[in-house]
Amino acid sequence: MLNNKSAIVTGSTSGIGLGIARALAEQGVNVMLNGFGDHAAIADLTATLAAAHGVTVLYSDADMSRPDQIEAMVRQAEAAFGAVDILVNNAGIQYTARVEDFPHDKWEQIMAINLSSNFYTIRAALPAMQQRNWGRIINIASVHGQVASSNKAAYVAAKHGVIGLTKTVALENARSGITCNAICPGWVLTPLVQKQIDDLAVREGLPPQAAQARLLGEKQPSQEFATPEQIAAAVLFLCSDGARQMRGAALTIDGGWTAQ
Ligand code: NAD
Repeated sequence: MLNNKSAIVTGSTSGIGLGIARALAEQGVNVMLNGFGDHAAIADLTATLAAAHGVTVLYSDADMSRPDQIEAMVRQAEAAFGAVDILVNNAGIQYTARVEDFPHDKWEQIMAINLSSNFYTIRAALPAMQQRNWGRIINIASVHGQVASSNKAAYVAAKHGVIGLTKTVALENARSGITCNAICPGWVLTPLVQKQIDDLAVREGLPPQAAQARLLGEKQPSQEFATPEQIAAAVLFLCSDGARQMRGAALTIDGGWTAQ
């Protein structure tokens, strides 16, 4: 069903975004990867994905904190693929500190990458989706778009903002073939979370396994991580015709975190 469609997945050189890009390529979707990392490893990834699934895989090193680079990335994908049918806003970073200690530059950076980039990609990609009357915009928010945790002021504010943006875009396009939804993962074991486990281990003097168990135990009743593949499965569903009337939803995949 998605065969020959084209997608941009921001922040797809690692973690959840990479899982989503893989799943889309497996369905025959041409994908533009984006994110930071070792250029040789990214070139290898691009070639491997393209060869495995017979799709076109491109890479943009656009910095999601830079509106001009975001616009250029969308234009590059439109020119190369002929269309951007699916836009997955996934790039994100984390920084933890109490509000009174939160560095200005970290606040600005998290707002830019985790929230504003979603606005700029959507703004750039929507007009062509509207011309074709089909599009799927999927924003990777977080449980922190729905509830808060201490020491994550910028992240929580940005992710709540992503859900607000998602609802607005969904409403503005409600009578079209373009849907916009958010996915709200709980803990997924990626480099972004591994850093928080490592910090916890140092802070509390815990061995790695104990720090991991503590992290899950505090928030996630299933006591298991969600996986990039599970988040990707939800993306594929949101791209399907079955999800046509899902508009402005915030879909939690959180092991029960927000049910408490
Ligand atoms: P990750 O660190 O593994 O991947 C982040 C990706 O974003 C990487 O590809 C990185 O290069 C890219 N990136 C970072 N800054 C960028 C920038 N300025 N421009 C372009 N790309 C940039 O993290 P992840 O855990 O896979 O997180 C992906 C998304 O999922 C984030 O939005 C995160 O907030 C969200 N999320 C993660 C979890 C979790 O538990 N891991 C839970 C809820 C939500």
